[in-house]
Amino acid sequence: MSQSARINAVLDGVQRPGRTVEWPQKGNRPAYISEIYGQNVFDLKGLQQTLPKPVYARFIQQIKGRQSLDRATADAVAHAAKVWAMDRGATHFTHWFQPQTGTTAEKHDSFLTLKTVISNGMEETSAIDAFSGSQLLQSEPDASSFPNGGMRTTFEARGYTIWDTTSPMFLRKGPHGTSILYIPSVFISYNGEALDEKTILLRSSEVLSTAAVKLLNVLGDKETKRVYATLGTEQEFFLIDRSLYNLRPDLKITGRTLVGTVPPKHQQLEDHYFGQIPSRVLAAISEAELELYKLGVPVKTRHNEVAPNQFEIAPIFEEASVAIDHNLVLMETLHQVAHRHKLKVLFHEKPFKGVNGSGKHCNWSLSTDQGDNLLDPTLKPETNYRFLLFLVATLDGIHRHGGLLRASIASASNEHRLGANEAPPGIVSAFLGEHLTEVLDAIESKRDVRNFSMPHLQTVKVGGTVLDLKVSTLPQIARDLTDRNRTSPFAFTGNKFEFRAVGSKQSPSFPTVLCNAAVAASLTTITEALIKQKGSKPEPSIDDILTVVRTFIASSKNIRFEGNNYSDEWVVEAEKRGLPNIKSCPTAFRQLLEPVHSELLINLGIMTKDEIHSRFHILMEKYAKDLVIEGNTLRNMVMQGVLPAAFTFKKELSDLLVSQKNLGLDISTVPEMKTLKIVTTLTTSLLTAAEKLSDIIDRVNALDGNEEQGDLAGNELTVSLEEVRKASDALEIYISDKQWPYPKYTELLF
Ligand code: ADP
Ligand code: MG
Repeated sequence: MSQSARINAVLDGVQRPGRTVEWPQKGNRPAYISEIYGQNVFDLKGLQQTLPKPVYARFIQQIKGRQSLDRATADAVAHAAKVWAMDRGATHFTHWFQPQTGTTAEKHDSFLTLKTVISNGMEETSAIDAFSGSQLLQSEPDASSFPNGGMRTTFEARGYTIWDTTSPMFLRKGPHGTSILYIPSVFISYNGEALDEKTILLRSSEVLSTAAVKLLNVLGDKETKRVYATLGTEQEFFLIDRSLYNLRPDLKITGRTLVGTVPPKHQQLEDHYFGQIPSRVLAAISEAELELYKLGVPVKTRHNEVAPNQFEIAPIFEEASVAIDHNLVLMETLHQVAHRHKLKVLFHEKPFKGVNGSGKHCNWSLSTDQGDNLLDPTLKPETNYRFLLFLVATLDGIHRHGGLLRASIASASNEHRLGANEAPPGIVSAFLGEHLTEVLDAIESKRDVRNFSMPHLQTVKVGGTVLDLKVSTLPQIARDLTDRNRTSPFAFTGNKFEFRAVGSKQSPSFPTVLCNAAVAASLTTITEALIKQKGSKPEPSIDDILTVVRTFIASSKNIRFEGNNYSDEWVVEAEKRGLPNIKSCPTAFRQLLEPVHSELLINLGIMTKDEIHSRFHILMEKYAKDLVIEGNTLRNMVMQGVLPAAFTFKKELSDLLVSQKNLGLDISTVPEMKTLKIVTTLTTSLLTAAEKLSDIIDRVNALDGNEEQGDLAGNELTVSLEEVRKASDALEIYISDKQWPYPKYTELLF
């Protein structure tokens, strides 16, 4: 690799014509989004149109009651799905599931079946396309190669994928104009243990629903039968040119740059945020959106993010389990479409040093089957008792189990973001905003909230507050209940909490599970307190409710923080409050094993002890492996790319010096000599650092299979990676551009 490869890659990017696709037409105009939305989804409407009425009714009963599907209904649904899919070019079907790898997995089977009949005494075999109910419901991929954290030995490798009837089947593009029928599924072991993300998510949803409905019942609500978490995931990512990407082994192998100096201009001017989306990027995002609309993924917002080449896509929120499927589909679709545009999408949380990383803000709330958002403060939160109860339940859950939430976002990659002044630190706290803080404080200090007013807070008064923009031509706008606090890991933003620390690359599933679990447990505690408080009365009085709310405001107060989470004062303050400040991944993972947290999950029936341990081991092992892979990649890049470049440059300098010496010049003071000396020193440091890295990698590898592997990797490998990088980056500044082997930040980011 040399500069010419870099230049060719840059030129390739500049000269390549953009890709356009035909937007579907309706008559002589581009189709409305609503006209294409969901066209590749086999949803309930599709089923209703194709199934006989009684069969459809039975199916609905079964998915609602979560009873197992009977054979005849399953066969009918499978047949309908097959006809629908084959009419749209499907040749194969696949159970699509979420092993604990952060991505999804699929194994395709064709509809082909051979049928043998005896006709006139002769065996005749013919090909037919078939898809049975049992094929729809269940499949058996070999589970031995998926992470299981030691839950099974390899000879007991049986695993099953089972259709998640709450998530509809959909069609994705296959090769040569064909398509593939996707069946969203869970993945469990032979003994029914969860091997995936979704099984525990569905368990947590049920637990949460039961707990929430019970509280609503005590409050006199007999209508609500189901409550579910809603989720809206704001997905951040980088898009870079693929030709350049291909010249960076670190990006290809680890998803982030392991060497590279920050260019003179990066994001200081903040001129990228909300700027005009570059046309090539817009073309790619728009093509992805087109596919996503067809897949019923409600993508809504797209914009430039803070860092150069960084973007965000956000959907309209949905029930959490569906929103998670959709987030994964969105990531896969963006990945594929970017490819077609010769771009590469980077979901890594910190692909570039010195510029902002990417997150996935998980907006979380609770909704009833009656369409009510239980975390909507409405116009007068101070007398919205139901809201207050659900609010304090959430705060209480986060307060008790902040450590769990921290565990759910820990990974080698997200670690670069957390606490790096761009994402919330290792301390979990919740932000409420001035208004709600005032409301809770008033209740806590027994001020009469029924005639609540906040003269000193006029500007944030809720209900009918309008902003005077002092420009008569602008329409009046309503002001939100809360301002934003970008530094808070768990911020209340109007009618939902925004879990901001979630990493861009990870599945939002586990963080959601733990939110659901923590809040479900607190809802149950609150319900019990309320039942006790009301005594023999049929329903609790307002005072009963306020008494309970008051108790929980007080007990969860420490989790509330309105200030700057990036400040040093907060670290000190949080320690005083007894909030854990979890800085490393291994410490975060161990939270899962803390009795207070593991018992929560076990008692609620969301995870068994084995499942928790298995997950802990998977996380720990993955963490160490990720770091070892980074280590090996960096070492190779240094030994095979950076050092040879430095040697060549040194030779060039030496040759220049020799020729000057031959001319009889005093070369001791010429700049070539000075540069040669500097480069020699820097090269030596780099080699030393790389050798040290090598040693540490060997030591980490030697601990394979041990829990301590993660600790050693976390303590030493991370530091060594940084040292090698520093040495290499120092050298990059001195080496002739012509010699530098890898595309530079300037080329990658602009
Ligand atoms: P903000 O700008 O305050 O972050 P947005 O309205 O842009 O709020 O929403 C951000 C994300 O939050 C979107 O994906 C949106 O669908 C989602 N969201 C909005 N309301 C809810 C809710 N009740 N539950 C879950 N997510 C929600
Ligand atoms: Mg937001």
